[in-house]
Amino acid sequence: MAGKKLTCLKCAQVNRVPFDKLGDGPKCGSCAAPLMPSKAVEITPAILTKASATDDVPLVVDFWAPWCGPCKMMGPEFDKAAGQLAGKARLVKVNTQTHQSVSGKLGIRGIPTMIAWQNGRELKRQSGAMKVGQIVGWVPRG
Ligand code: ZN
Repeated sequence: MAGKKLTCLKCAQVNRVPFDKLGDGPKCGSCAAPLMPSKAVEITPAILTKASATDDVPLVVDFWAPWCGPCKMMGPEFDKAAGQLAGKARLVKVNTQTHQSVSGKLGIRGIPTMIAWQNGRELKRQSGAMKVGQIVGWVPRG
């Protein structure tokens, strides 16, 4: 069956969603969590590993931490961008304070850093806080 592979951000089940349904609020067939949330949800390193290796739709991750001022400024902007891009790309967040091994593994030196993956490949990365318009312009479209 044709369709875009999307890893559930909650239970890690890989779903196949027809291309023309991506904008219709698709839900996970296993746990019913939204596959295209309108806000950037927090994910774990395990989900990140699976989704970045699997997903056909661009996965854009904001690596942040609660102690980082620019990260906190960017948070609401990133959420707005997630809403605008729902159906085209998935924007999610990883807390690098809670998950400290992630930064070293991915070679992240400063936060906030955004990294975009698609089909198992890193497409691009960018450090520094951005506004919603800049984020939307930066994100690759599936
Ligand atoms: Zn699920």
